[in-house]
Amino acid sequence: MALQIDTQIQFLKGVGPKLGELFSRNGINTIRDLIEFVPRAYEDRRVARSIMTLKPNETVSLKAQFVKVSSIAMGKSSRRMYDVTLQDSSGQIHCKYFRVPFRGYFDRFEPWQEVRVIGKVTEYRGRIEFHHPDIRVISEEDDALEDTLVPIYVEIEGLSSVKIYRLVQLAINQINAETWPDSMPESLRKKMNLMGRFEALKKLHKPDLKDAQALLDRKSQSHYRLIFEEFFWLEFLLASKKQGLKLDPGPQMTGSGKLAEKLLANLPFELTGDQKKSFQEIKQDLFAKHPMHRLLQGDVGSGKTLVSFLSALVAIESGFQTVLMAPTEILAEQHFKTAAKFLESLGVRTALMVGSLKNSQRNEILQKLADQEIDLLIGTHALLEPDVKLKNLGLVIIDEQHRFGVSQRGILKQKGTNPHFLVMTATPIPRTLALTVYGDLEVSIIRELPPGRSPIQTRVVFESKKSQVLDFLKKQIEAGRQAYVVYPLVEESEKLDLKNAHDEFEKISQLLPGIQVGLLHGRMKAAEKDEIMDRFRENKIQVLVSTTVIEVGVDVPNASMMIVENAERFGLSQLHQLRGRVGRGTTKSFCVLIMGYAVSEEAKARTQFMEQTNDGFKIAEFDLEMRGPGEFLGIKQSGLPGFKFANILKDTEILETARAAAFAIIDHDPHLKSAENRELTAEMKRSQSFHELLSIG
Ligand code: ADP
Ligand code: MG
Repeated sequence: MALQIDTQIQFLKGVGPKLGELFSRNGINTIRDLIEFVPRAYEDRRVARSIMTLKPNETVSLKAQFVKVSSIAMGKSSRRMYDVTLQDSSGQIHCKYFRVPFRGYFDRFEPWQEVRVIGKVTEYRGRIEFHHPDIRVISEEDDALEDTLVPIYVEIEGLSSVKIYRLVQLAINQINAETWPDSMPESLRKKMNLMGRFEALKKLHKPDLKDAQALLDRKSQSHYRLIFEEFFWLEFLLASKKQGLKLDPGPQMTGSGKLAEKLLANLPFELTGDQKKSFQEIKQDLFAKHPMHRLLQGDVGSGKTLVSFLSALVAIESGFQTVLMAPTEILAEQHFKTAAKFLESLGVRTALMVGSLKNSQRNEILQKLADQEIDLLIGTHALLEPDVKLKNLGLVIIDEQHRFGVSQRGILKQKGTNPHFLVMTATPIPRTLALTVYGDLEVSIIRELPPGRSPIQTRVVFESKKSQVLDFLKKQIEAGRQAYVVYPLVEESEKLDLKNAHDEFEKISQLLPGIQVGLLHGRMKAAEKDEIMDRFRENKIQVLVSTTVIEVGVDVPNASMMIVENAERFGLSQLHQLRGRVGRGTTKSFCVLIMGYAVSEEAKARTQFMEQTNDGFKIAEFDLEMRGPGEFLGIKQSGLPGFKFANILKDTEILETARAAAFAIIDHDPHLKSAENRELTAEMKRSQSFHELLSIG
């Protein structure tokens, strides 16, 4: 009897309850799951290779003898790395592991045993080596696969790639291919030249030698089909979402633009070209019939706040209220103060809503909001509370939007009737990522910084240089400037972090006699934070020792020096954000990144990248490459779907094609009325997994 796709895997011959349990612990429950578990690479056994002939960057498989494994402590931490030495008649090679693939991985080998190693050749300090290759003892089963292209599977708890290969072959041979579901409708498959889903999977598991090179390069028709499908559904969802928003009537603005002009006339400077352009784009959206969904992207210090205030004035002048949400109290306070400075004289009534308000203050604001006696409400997450109700919300502005989740944007949306959305971020995102994460938004970009800023000079130094750094800091203070000293979230526990910042605060205060040093951290009461920030702004405090609470948005132009401790623990994008706290005035600014002694070569090289450029975009790309999309965006907030086949960094072209195909369908048939497109709608509803991804709820 043929296997069904949803047959439990334990009923496959050779599996049974025990192995079935192991599979199921790893997310493989049915025959379908097993067949969708595709090879992670291929091994070309048609040419025998020897160690001496290896070249950097090629992925190879070769037979060698296991010599030994050594474990090496990594710096101060308890982590260890493993170094496996292999040899053949031509020479020796080292295989390095920065983590153990699974428990007992290295215990399987004995000296002089014959093994097979499969991996990518890396060059390190002029020597070739492997990082995290697959090594396995050669078995008879394995030797039978000589002279072909062999699919390599990720080993599951020690279940070897060859075993998995055998089981997959069994399953494929017995499955009734007719019943395999294919989410791409026939018509689209024809148009885009895509093979069937089962066929694609089958060809990955049973490679044909004529496709060898394409398979080795991940460029086969099978790869194309599966990757296309994943991107297509995501983009189709984004396209229909965007289309849906276009159909909603939005709060239509009618103002004359006079208020914004007044603000501009009061400013001591001119808008930059990009600020003007972005504001124009926003204005156009606001005067249109449908709600705006726009991302304002601009490097740190590029002046996004001002553009958002100008936009708020358009809404306010048209009789609508605006809310501006920021991720931290410090930032919300700062926006509130800026608003007081620029907007109050224009008659705009503003209020600040943060978690630490007294009940009486809060109630007063709630009342005024309901009566529309407040035009601009600035705040933190506290804005999201259900009893915060606005009479006539027209525009929602979210600052540092990558700090918020999708659901929070959804909540704000509910506080009005299809309000306009302006979300802002200083994290420049490479195009592929933008097309997925912000694929349903229009984008305005501020590339230029306001004139007169001199570039920040950055240096990476070791802890041993700290006293020199402090001497330099003293000179800056003597010249009338101010400085930040930032501590990372070092330990899991907030308490320990706090202790670090406290200790350091004491130490620095002692080392800098006659200089006012302040301490700022997330655990302080809002009023305390506010007071410290005020004193720093007024230059009553010259050195601010802080945790990363100042990371986003803080704007004190007189600060010209940033010192970051244990800089190697930060992501580069975060370092760039921190560094962006200085260089906001016209004086030369400095950023010193202090590194602990026990850092890896990799961390060092990564941190040193900061010395090379002030360009946030370049930094983001580099960071993304080093850390991968999940970490880059901060896993929790990213809402990035877990792609099974697609690689968001490498498969750019397929993404663009899939996006174009998806958007074309919606453009031609906005209501998806045609028969073939109705099929798509039904399928999309089934693929719920992407729904969370949308930038705006
Ligand atoms: P970000 O884009 O990082 O949020 P901000 O909005 O905090 O940047 O602006 C940084 C600083 O630049 C602020 O002090 C702001 O007043 C100032 N600024 C904004 N636009 C201009 C401009 N066109 N010319 C000069 N200074 C400007
Ligand atoms: Mg900002």
